[in-house]
Amino acid sequence: MPYRRSLLFKAGIFIALTIGPDSTGVPGAPPLELIPLGGLGEFGMNMMLVACGDTAILVDAGVMFPDPDMLGVDLIIPDVRPLLQRYRIQALVLTHGHEDHIGAVPHVIGHFEGPVYGTKLTLAFLEPKLEEHGADVRARLTEIGPRDRVTVGSFTIEFLRVTHSMPDCVAVAIHTPAGVVLHTGDFKIDQTPLDGQHVDFHRFAQLGAAGVLVLMGDSTNVDRKGVSGSERDVIDGFEEVFTSARGRIVIAMFSSSLYRMQILVDLADQFDRKVAFVGRGVMENSQIAMRLGYLRIPPGVQIRDSEIKSYPSQDVAIICTGSQGEPQAALPRIAIDDHRHAKLDHDDVVVFSAREIPGNEKAIGRVMNHIAKRGAEIVYEGIKHVHVSGHGSEEELKLMLSLVRPRYFVPIHGEYRQLARHARIARSVSPGTKPVLAENGDLIRIDEEGARVVEKVPAGRILIDGTRSGEVGDEVLRDRRHLAGDGLVVPVVAINRQSGMLEETPDVITRGFVVDARTEALLKEIPGLVGAAIDSASVEERTDPGLMKEKIRVDLQRFFRKRSGLRPFVLPVVMEI
Ligand SMILES: [Zn+2]
Ligand SMILES: [Zn+2]
Repeated sequence: MPYRRSLLFKAGIFIALTIGPDSTGVPGAPPLELIPLGGLGEFGMNMMLVACGDTAILVDAGVMFPDPDMLGVDLIIPDVRPLLQRYRIQALVLTHGHEDHIGAVPHVIGHFEGPVYGTKLTLAFLEPKLEEHGADVRARLTEIGPRDRVTVGSFTIEFLRVTHSMPDCVAVAIHTPAGVVLHTGDFKIDQTPLDGQHVDFHRFAQLGAAGVLVLMGDSTNVDRKGVSGSERDVIDGFEEVFTSARGRIVIAMFSSSLYRMQILVDLADQFDRKVAFVGRGVMENSQIAMRLGYLRIPPGVQIRDSEIKSYPSQDVAIICTGSQGEPQAALPRIAIDDHRHAKLDHDDVVVFSAREIPGNEKAIGRVMNHIAKRGAEIVYEGIKHVHVSGHGSEEELKLMLSLVRPRYFVPIHGEYRQLARHARIARSVSPGTKPVLAENGDLIRIDEEGARVVEKVPAGRILIDGTRSGEVGDEVLRDRRHLAGDGLVVPVVAINRQSGMLEETPDVITRGFVVDARTEALLKEIPGLVGAAIDSASVEERTDPGLMKEKIRVDLQRFFRKRSGLRPFVLPVVMEI
């Protein structure tokens, strides 16, 4: 069909005749170009460029969290700079407030002029990040809601409500001169949403009937059969926990899971427990959500973290960060008795109410071991239904495809094998749909000749350090130039598996680190500093290589910064002997 049309078009015959009633795409229109800059072939760092004619916009600007062994790197973001010569980006559209969709906005916003569109909650989660970076761009933040329409250049952009693990999420329909581009954002189909805000099936179906040129769909849970379930599905599991717990209930979760927070606050109220939020992420997000009415806490239910000690343990529920075993978050500190306000006892129950992000299994397992040593009970997804995914499973993805029946389908948000599976599902749902598989940096062009990847743009990534600990305000972009400038310092530390004591004087390996008289003196101090870091740690910390690496890294980076102004990449290797 596209082939035939292009011939006719070249022959100068007018195309209205050749397009059936459900056809889309406007022959003669400029080609539509899509470039995924992140989120395809990996998880996180979601960003998509949509361009047609003289208009170009970005959908989402997310971060990715590094593997635990990429010490010294706190965040990874997509690099938009290679695009700037080719496209003038006129707006950034945000689907929802998760880090993997908004985390890179502070780094990207300086590269274009124009508005940033997001729902009320999305923008509220974004604002503190922009403030942290000293970016005064408040005038560019533009609040939108479901069913709103805005115009950017030759595009009309429309927002459709979807359900996910947090409130106020939208899909984006972009009406371009070449046809309609529909981006689902992250979604599942929660038929009983906690806030009563349903997926806008009606509008999805209308757009589908009128003709959608290309659908980009979330592939995160394409491997799961059936449906993912409602946020409400965890209520029974938590009710059991609240009914049987004799001591404190400690729940670690993602700090953006506001529905989960609401369920826990309501249960705590029902079971006469006070709720304390512990850890920066859950404290900040719960405050934002309360201020905007997305989280309702009955009067007298919430207490400060510093008040936990003054209540009997059976009267307390703690909502905290650290579900992934992150060394600086609340739960891992609580688990080794290293938290100012919260401790664990043998009657306590600790619930991991989150997905185990691949790569974090070891760190999570270590935290569980520490908790078990304190005699507390551990509950996680495999034991009780205390977590539900925010991403649609196979049947939900099929429903979306059959509502929209796009001409082209680009699976997004997933590893390549998942994108490929999603493409197969699309073909089975709608034989008329042509899937296009792409990876980050691929330029997908859609014109009279069809849709295909035509070239690769140099889409890189930028590694960022220094945003994880709140106290370091001056953030450093660790691009390659920088790494080359200050180099790499690797302290190799051998510790005794039982005692956690140093087995021998640490070795220090450097690469690209300029060694002169001054820096040589600094390097000589490292074994002493490592020794001091180990001495000041508890036995439990010492015998946990993950915690020790982080402690040594933080100490040494501070040392280099203070003494020399240098910021080498510090990558401790801790061996247990
Ligand atoms: Zn999300
Ligand atoms: Zn996401």
